[in-house]
Amino acid sequence: MKKYELKFYPDPVLRKISSPVGKVDNTIRHLIKKMSKIMYSRKGIGLAAPQVGTLDRVIIADIGEGLISMINPEILTGFGEDYLEEGCLSLPETTVNVKRQQSVFVRYFDKNEKEKETEIVGLTARVVKHEIDHLNGVLIVDYAPISDRLKLNVINELKI
Ligand SMILES: [Zn+2]
Repeated sequence: MKKYELKFYPDPVLRKISSPVGKVDNTIRHLIKKMSKIMYSRKGIGLAAPQVGTLDRVIIADIGEGLISMINPEILTGFGEDYLEEGCLSLPETTVNVKRQQSVFVRYFDKNEKEKETEIVGLTARVVKHEIDHLNGVLIVDYAPISDRLKLNVINELKI
């Protein structure tokens, strides 16, 4: 079985676009298990597959209400807005104030390949959106004002 370990910024894998999972098999279930181990051991509340070096559209989250895993998650619609300082396991010691919708409808497959559609709100919605960002190569530093990005030492990453 493949070995997975946490990747840190500026590892290029964090900027790649992940591919949809074609089949939810034991490899994917193993990946979810390993991801949750890494997330819990670092006291995180969410993790996306690229953060452990694999470009599959798989995310997990647990804000203290149990583990959620989503395969090929897709935001259908959302509303409201809210700001919160976010951190990221791949960018230790960095926080960025990020505006996100308060409530989103998301469609995904669970680890038994069952398609689900559900509304998620508050912190769960925030974490899920943060993790879906990872699947698209987007990081919290992308939400920081340009002046802060300079301080965050991501000048080589500026997309302007
Ligand atoms: Zn993150």
